[in-house]
Amino acid sequence: MKTLRLILGDQLNENHSWFQTVDDNIIYIMAEMRQETDYVKHHIQKVVAFFISMRNFSEILTSKGHQCIYLKISDDTNPQDLKAIIKRHLKATGSQKFEYQLPDEYRLDQQLKQICEELNCDYEIADTEHFYTTRFELKNFFSGKKQLIMESFYRMMRKKHHILTTGDQPEGGKWNYDHSNRKKWKGQPIIPEIKKFERNVSAVIEEIKNSGAKTFGHIEPNDFNWPCSRKESLSVLSYFCENLLMHFGDYQDALHTEEKFLFHSRLSFAMNSKMIAPKEVVDSVIAHYRNNTDSIQISQVEGFVRQILGWREYMRGMYWKEMPLYANHNKLNNSNSLPNFFWTGKTKMNCLHHAIDQSLNEAYAHHIQRLMITGNFALLNMTDPKEVDEWYLGIYIDAIEWVEITNTRGMSQFADGGLVATKPYVSSANYINKMSNYCSSCHYSHTKKLGDKACPFNALYWNFLDEKRQYFSSNNRMAMMMSLLNKKPSEELKALKERANEIISNPDQF
Ligand SMILES: Cc1cc2nc3c(=O)[nH]c(=O)nc-3n(C[C@H](O)[C@H](O)[C@H](O)COP(=O)(O)OP(=O)(O)OC[C@H]3O[C@@H](n4cnc5c(N)ncnc54)[C@H](O)[C@@H]3O)c2cc1C
Ligand code: SF4
Repeated sequence: MKTLRLILGDQLNENHSWFQTVDDNIIYIMAEMRQETDYVKHHIQKVVAFFISMRNFSEILTSKGHQCIYLKISDDTNPQDLKAIIKRHLKATGSQKFEYQLPDEYRLDQQLKQICEELNCDYEIADTEHFYTTRFELKNFFSGKKQLIMESFYRMMRKKHHILTTGDQPEGGKWNYDHSNRKKWKGQPIIPEIKKFERNVSAVIEEIKNSGAKTFGHIEPNDFNWPCSRKESLSVLSYFCENLLMHFGDYQDALHTEEKFLFHSRLSFAMNSKMIAPKEVVDSVIAHYRNNTDSIQISQVEGFVRQILGWREYMRGMYWKEMPLYANHNKLNNSNSLPNFFWTGKTKMNCLHHAIDQSLNEAYAHHIQRLMITGNFALLNMTDPKEVDEWYLGIYIDAIEWVEITNTRGMSQFADGGLVATKPYVSSANYINKMSNYCSSCHYSHTKKLGDKACPFNALYWNFLDEKRQYFSSNNRMAMMMSLLNKKPSEELKALKERANEIISNPDQF
């Protein structure tokens, strides 16, 4: 009996049990589809990275003796739609059974369930064998609990997987070294250049353009450095361990005009496409640490492990616990439009100019740029979370809904009312100046609250707290800020609100 097995673009796991034996009765199908390029407008680098990685994966399968049908976006016979592709190839290959791996996106999960109901053949669903947790492990862990705090989930994960633990206790004496992760980068230590790959991606760019798929953002065909195979992903992982890990934790929250990547790993695309597994990333980092305890401190390693074992698994679990309702949350009732400068980078606000320009040029911004620069401004601007989501989902190389929406709608925009974050991540210029050098070369003054040269973040911050006063009145973590707000003289608050309204009514002028 012949079986048709579907491999989605973010299921490039060479170590999956599916691929461990070669069977002539199994035919794999992979397809570049307009369905996937068009559900939101994507950065050109994101589409290129997915297509090259998928093509490399299909070549590896074929070289190992597997039968793999691959449809390129440019193929005349490509129906560009998942349902049509599955139906056509079941018939063409004479397959009597269809198999797929659990998709990580709700949208595709629903679509595949629907397709299977309509098929006249057996079907079977396999796990992706990628994450530490199953889809509903977090839901079960938090069952009956009022608060869904990441830290308690993370500690459970550390203990369960025996990661940086001694018995039931944390290695080094502390579960979390978050407080050691807040250094400002001032030119030292030197940041090594990113790992580069020699290739030219002009042909793929041309195929994407000719297909009619709409993209945005910049790409350098001769300087495209995202890992697009398992081998390249592993080399980025080794590069991180050897060159960046030793300072990762210290400068995790730092921001700088000249350094786009600082000590960040740039591994998110490699992991989200499943070319490498979170377990092998964590294991490699810890093994490297064990061999270099004289030069690497536990705080650097724990800071990194927390992101993957903690935040990444937590976000996935929250996604499956809360979808599909999560995609419509707007608990703060925000409805303003996303400023146009998010699509151009043209703004006098230096921090936003740098974070957005970099995102348009690299399809990448690190966590604090996403959270405390663009996300912070979008929330202070009281932007419709749907528009914010679409921007993040389109622009970043690693954006797949399960990890994008929980970070954007949840952590960054507080649209879920505090399921993911216990307080909104908003700040005035004070925090941005503390963590970056953006303010020193800005048109605006970070210390001024009023007047033409006053940093827009300052007025927007107090206006936001005042506008959402009722909503946050019962939030303990906001108590100090609310008490400062209550102490503001009414004339000062009135002037701040007037300035904030000027900004919100025409953000592109600022
Ligand atoms: C508004 C917003 C949107 C985001 N959207 C995405 C997204 O679409 N896809 C995505 O993978 N990450 C997203 N993140 C999380 C984080 O910003 C990126 O994972 C990180 O910047 C990727 O770069 P890196 O690989 O160099 O990360 P590093 O700083 O080197 O961290 C290592 C790894 O930890 C994981 N990680 C770190 N923080 C998080 C987090 N908050 N949630 C989940 N995993 C995390 C990632 O897999 C990352 O590769 C978002 C964060 C915010 C605030
Ligand atoms: S002064 Fe304000 S707008 Fe300018 S960089 Fe600092 S925080 Fe950003």
